[in-house]
Amino acid sequence: QLATSGENELLQDESGSGATEHIKVIVRVRPLLERELNETTKAVVDASADRITVRGEGPSRQVQCRYDAVLGPDASQVDAYLHVNDCIAAVLEGVNCTIFAYGQTGSGKTHSMFGPPQLSTPPAGSSGTGRHRMLNHEVGIIPRAVSDLFNGVEALAEAESHHNAVATAAAAGGGGRPNVSIWCSLVQIYNEQVFDMLRDPQRSRPLAIHEDATAGTYCQGLSEYAVHSAEECLQLLHTGEEHRAVRETHMNQASSRSHSIFQVTVEQRLWEGEDGGERLLRSKFNLVDLAGSEKWDVRQEMGEERVSEMTNINVSLYTLGRVISALSKKGASVGGALDADGNPAGAHIPYRDSKLTRLLRDSLGGNTRTCLVATLSPSAACVDETISTLRFASRAKTIASLVRINERRAVDRAMVEKLQGEVARLRALVK
Ligand code: ADP
Ligand code: MG
Repeated sequence: QLATSGENELLQDESGSGATEHIKVIVRVRPLLERELNETTKAVVDASADRITVRGEGPSRQVQCRYDAVLGPDASQVDAYLHVNDCIAAVLEGVNCTIFAYGQTGSGKTHSMFGPPQLSTPPAGSSGTGRHRMLNHEVGIIPRAVSDLFNGVEALAEAESHHNAVATAAAAGGGGRPNVSIWCSLVQIYNEQVFDMLRDPQRSRPLAIHEDATAGTYCQGLSEYAVHSAEECLQLLHTGEEHRAVRETHMNQASSRSHSIFQVTVEQRLWEGEDGGERLLRSKFNLVDLAGSEKWDVRQEMGEERVSEMTNINVSLYTLGRVISALSKKGASVGGALDADGNPAGAHIPYRDSKLTRLLRDSLGGNTRTCLVATLSPSAACVDETISTLRFASRAKTIASLVRINERRAVDRAMVEKLQGEVARLRALVK
């Protein structure tokens, strides 16, 4: 099923004031690869508990930093997932969540997010329904999150139907089962153009981004697929992977220069018996595999003119760095005042300067629980990039977001009046 994003939602926003929380930062160091071992490359990055130590040559190449979690070369895919899986419950409660993978090319972003390519798809003929579906131990965060999301939906439906069985015995009527809808989309940003990765790459054209007071920021004409199981969802990812391969035969090194955003939208309609109103919980879950961060270091702030001159610069990644810098500098750190959108009051944050930061604006100091997975190579040859990634991660860690449950109430006035009349009539009858 194909739906188009950006529909107007004529619902009242009844969300509360929300809670302030920081971007969670997890650093993951991959093991030396076989070819690196043969090259007698030294490993110079140590990971222990919450601390990363880089032992490069010279004082400027030796750093020690702390993060929310640090994963060493022996950490498994499950270990990595367990540091981000609090997102699943949050998404089901109506909270927006984003997980970003950031790091230089070859540091393990795609490995962490997707896992080895052929493994993220369910094996053909697998009976992967129910709560006992098997995942290969090498799959990454995205397939695990998708699987747990559907497990969570099943558990909610079961709990609710149990509750209703009891409730209906007590009182006629009662609430309905939570009506859950899940949609997925997959876009790639390459060279400041947004592509719909679930459309035939031969025929699809770059998408325009629009902002709208009711619909928020959206890609015009982006296909969003309604999915009913984890398998359907993973199948879409596989389709996206095939389309990416086709597209990349025409573009040099595109995968290290492009950003992938897999977005899952979860909507739950809950009937409330009392006032005949309908509660709507809607959350967006973004899983982002960023372009390789090498060469886009923002340590030396470049003038705007120079940036536009540089043909090879990744504008989105560069802008992401500037947004993170601006947010971390301008009072976004602990206790800083936030405006109504949850952004630091009074600060100019250059969200509008790139496609990536426009699309993920909410994930950067806005109404989204955000987790950054910073990936590192342990190799002595990569020390400069490693330190640059750690700097980025440290800045990100200071950023606060105002996160709230996205709850809206759709009230059908005529229906409410009709039902109230009915209740009064029935009350009179039982007196
Ligand atoms: P990136 O997406 O950051 O460019 P990849 O995820 O493609 O990097 O990883 C580069 C290589 O390193 C791949 O061969 C991948 O399988 C391997 N690799 C990355 N992280 C790990 C890890 N934690 N354990 C084992 N191998 C890894
Ligand atoms: Mg990659």
